[in-house]
Amino acid sequence: MEEPAEASDSEASGLAEKDSPEVGPLGREYLDLLEESWRLDARLATTLAKLDSSGEWRLDGSATCQAWLRQHGRMTASAASSRVKTARRLRNLPRTAEAFAAGELSSDHVRVIAHGTDVAESLDGIDRLDVEEVARLVAEGEKVFIDAARSLDPTRLRRVVTHWRHAVEPQVVITDKTGRVCRRKLHMSQTLDGRFVIDGELDLEGGTVLQTALDALMQPGPTDTPRRTASRRRADALVELARQGLDGGRLPTAGGEKPHLSVLVYLETLEARTGAPAAEFDNGELLSGEATRRLACDAGISRIITDGTSQALDVGRRTPTIPPAIRRALVVRDRGCAWPGCDRPPGWCDAHHLHHWANGGDTRLDNLALLCRAHHTKLHEHRWTAELTDDGELEVKPP
Ligand SMILES: [Zn+2]
Ligand SMILES: [Zn+2]
Repeated sequence: MEEPAEASDSEASGLAEKDSPEVGPLGREYLDLLEESWRLDARLATTLAKLDSSGEWRLDGSATCQAWLRQHGRMTASAASSRVKTARRLRNLPRTAEAFAAGELSSDHVRVIAHGTDVAESLDGIDRLDVEEVARLVAEGEKVFIDAARSLDPTRLRRVVTHWRHAVEPQVVITDKTGRVCRRKLHMSQTLDGRFVIDGELDLEGGTVLQTALDALMQPGPTDTPRRTASRRRADALVELARQGLDGGRLPTAGGEKPHLSVLVYLETLEARTGAPAAEFDNGELLSGEATRRLACDAGISRIITDGTSQALDVGRRTPTIPPAIRRALVVRDRGCAWPGCDRPPGWCDAHHLHHWANGGDTRLDNLALLCRAHHTKLHEHRWTAELTDDGELEVKPP
């Protein structure tokens, strides 16, 4: 901190915090190296810009400078093209280039500024702003961005740049967004052991909608352990979101029925008799007997009578295992998950038969408890046991 606050931009240090007393010697060493790597990145960008304009990359027959960099720099196509784009842009961003060379800006910050101020390129097909006017606005913006980058991470800096961009040319920010809307995809594939792998990309608006919904569903509960990490809770929240969508009955019908999960199960499996076969989903995937008993605790059941060779003789109507009136009474009594300490609301809960109906248990309040899916699973698959005390509290015991 040798310089007063009003010192010129280029003289201030890139990482102001590194001189703070809270940073130890290792931290300082690391931050020094980091700053050095930024300076090196700046030199890489300058050299790449020279290489690009010299045309030297044609020597090996490469079609573009990006292709040359991808091959010789062993990079992905997008990394190579991002580097070339940044290097080119830096020619028109003298202040940014200077701060970059001085180790004040990280490569991520520079990329944000370089790509976000690329006004002329994105104006194709839209009223072009006066070239000089654009240069003036960019030069003004640069000062603000470099200053902001001292305290902001690249994500926050991108917001500052986007605000500036919107002020300069609102129509471009809007088209940019629509451009991004097209890049949406969601892949869902099943592995050999039956699990699902999800991978995808959402536009700004769609991603924000999903994140807001997941955030609401993934809050840790009071009975959560640290083993239920944020990513695990997010995965559970996604399933919960889908389940509530199915349970809510607002999804479009398919084949004359509201979409639902359908499981074919033998009576002996439901009764938990030894040697009983597993249950089967519509798609042929198998489900364990205890998971099926959990689902059957609170489900719509149709009885199919077969002649022993799986030939259906009679299919009964689907009837809910928990009649609506009993569920309402249960919600009034338990008000949410009955597990001690759990605060999941009724919408997240199944009704659990303490003595399973498949084994002759009654669907009566004194044999039922409302349980969130995590706790319902504990009772079935994880073999915890539960009893209702005389005053209607649930008492649980580990296996
Ligand atoms: Zn149950
Ligand atoms: Zn619970």
